[in-house]
Amino acid sequence: MRTIYSEDHRLHFPQAELSGGQFVTPFERPSRVEYVLNRLRERKLTDIVPPAAVDMRPVQALLDPGYLTFLETAWDDWKTAGMEGEIIAANVPARGMHMDRIPENIDGKVGYYCHASETAITRGTWTAALSSLACAQTAQRHVAAGAGSAFALCRPPGHHATADQYGGYCFINNAAVVAEMFRASGAGRVAILDIDFHHGNGTQSLFYDRSDVMFASLHGAPQETYPYYLGYADETGKGAGEGFNLNYPMTAGTGYGAWSHALDDAIAKIMAWGPEALVISLGVDAYKEDPISFFKLESDDFTDAGRRIGRMKLPTVFCMEGGYAIEAVGVNTVNVLEGFMDA
Ligand SMILES: [Zn+2]
Repeated sequence: MRTIYSEDHRLHFPQAELSGGQFVTPFERPSRVEYVLNRLRERKLTDIVPPAAVDMRPVQALLDPGYLTFLETAWDDWKTAGMEGEIIAANVPARGMHMDRIPENIDGKVGYYCHASETAITRGTWTAALSSLACAQTAQRHVAAGAGSAFALCRPPGHHATADQYGGYCFINNAAVVAEMFRASGAGRVAILDIDFHHGNGTQSLFYDRSDVMFASLHGAPQETYPYYLGYADETGKGAGEGFNLNYPMTAGTGYGAWSHALDDAIAKIMAWGPEALVISLGVDAYKEDPISFFKLESDDFTDAGRRIGRMKLPTVFCMEGGYAIEAVGVNTVNVLEGFMDA
């Protein structure tokens, strides 16, 4: 399986993340990718190529143009306004306030376009987000051309980003853009399966009223963990999208038995629908030692999960999402890919 990777991910490395009332080194950091690259090489998965240039057309079709302009210009506007530090949202529109009036002041604008203030924007964030997107797009083209599967080693990740909000370390929803590109290249039905520990709120929101892209997510119950305000089992889609959104929230301490049961159910429902392409939001933070998650998967479980996904026998693009037990991220990620290829 080919991996698509860009060194430009390193341009996004905020100094700090707001966590537990303290500023800490961000859990989502560049070394995560180095562990994945090292493990790929150890396992002789050395078909690793840089992405082609990013194509903004499918992105502009899916995301809010004002949001994209904001991401592109936020750093310059922040500095022009005399702000000393990195961009962190301090004000957000809350209940009873206007949700649809965009402030002119950059500080207000940041809050409008942000849903979680742990995520900072730095000088290189936009370039890094575009490089991450470019990896996903190149993987999609490779698979659409008949490759069978590809791994986009995306960083920053994407599944928490909506049409017009960043947060959860995500800025552009790579998996959603890949699904949209599969649709544009002729696939009538596309499934997105999100196995990251956290609910893919951004992906859900982008396809919630659509019947051509099915979304399934296995994740920590929103009563107990981020993103808190979305990801319940009764969110099943709306309008034409009713029945095309599948959430599997699971409680703290969930191990592979219950998790794989949910995975099998999601796979069965996806296969019964008959999609022509599959996008995997590949987070490995369901791992037992992940510092910000609470599932109990072992490293070998990721191999088995990859095998179950591989048995779907669909053209598949893997987009890297989360995973913060940094030294295990490489093994767990590559285990999924090897399981997939062994199926
Ligand atoms: Zn996650």
